[in-house]
Amino acid sequence: QAKRRGGHRYERWTEGFEDLAATESVLAGELGGAVGSGQLRVFYQPIVTLATGEPVAVEALVRWHHPERGLIPPDRFIPLAEQTGAIEKIGLFVLEEAARQVVAWQRLPGRAHLRAGVNLSPRQLASPGLVDQVSAILARTGLSPHDLVLELTESAVADDGVCVTRLEELRRLGIRIALDDFGTGYSSLRYLTRLPVDILKLDRCFVSELNGEPEGSAVAEAVIRLSQVLHLDTVAEGIETAAQATELTLLGCRTGQGYHYARPMPAAELEELIHTSPALGGR
Ligand code: C2E
Ligand code: MG
Ligand code: MG
Ligand code: MG
Repeated sequence: QAKRRGGHRYERWTEGFEDLAATESVLAGELGGAVGSGQLRVFYQPIVTLATGEPVAVEALVRWHHPERGLIPPDRFIPLAEQTGAIEKIGLFVLEEAARQVVAWQRLPGRAHLRAGVNLSPRQLASPGLVDQVSAILARTGLSPHDLVLELTESAVADDGVCVTRLEELRRLGIRIALDDFGTGYSSLRYLTRLPVDILKLDRCFVSELNGEPEGSAVAEAVIRLSQVLHLDTVAEGIETAAQATELTLLGCRTGQGYHYARPMPAAELEELIHTSPALGGR
């Protein structure tokens, strides 16, 4: 009896698993066409100076408006796109879209120095054409390389000479490099001093641990100190409360992003928000 039930459960589990796998492969097949048919949208989340709540940059975050499945979050399709190679097209689309948008925003009063943060996947970094493609997009859109930050996770760059060379080429153009989700990769400290990077983005799991106690702030504090010693900037991710912002400020972190300030949103909504409240975070 128990065995039969177990078998039954196993069957149901594999059914579910096959459904999921089928869905994934359907999605993977549809991804290639999603860019050309206008199904991808870029949302923007402000990155602010913690002390004032003033936006200094926006991070571009892609969304897929699937005609039948609705809104698909990036965690669901970016890994697929990475496998199929569609990420190269998607990544360049997001970069161009974000560059155009930020150039438009830079024309607004007081926003001349707004920067664009764009995520770069490991496969994009490994692509030999990347530097030329990025240069071409900057030339087409008029975004200054000094106003572009490319965000990479540590796992994308660690221990790979080709990637390090490519990062150096990007930096020679004036582009800044951020290590995203910092602290969650296995090789973070080992390679950090050798990597050509400018910014550490403190992963949101360490921000969520901040609770006013020393144990809660241990990793955040260590990462912020590390940034200071290496002359890097720190951007804290996933700030959801005023208390977290205060604690990060006390630890010496000057910039961050999170729902406490604003969620990622379409360009028009963010423009409206910044227009009505120039300082975010309820100050
Ligand atoms: P990420 O680059 O680390 O982006 C930050 C993620 O944290 C975003 O998730 C954002 O919506 C979320 N977030 C921001 N503030 C908060 C907060 O206060 N609380 C919580 N719980 N979450 C917060 P999103 O937009 O779902 O993107 C997930 C990941 O997908 C990104 O993580 C990035 O790795 C990847 N991604 C998004 N767009 C692109 C893209 O254009 N290209 C590539 N290669 N990857 C992308
Ligand atoms: Mg990012
Ligand atoms: Mg991140
Ligand atoms: Mg992430």
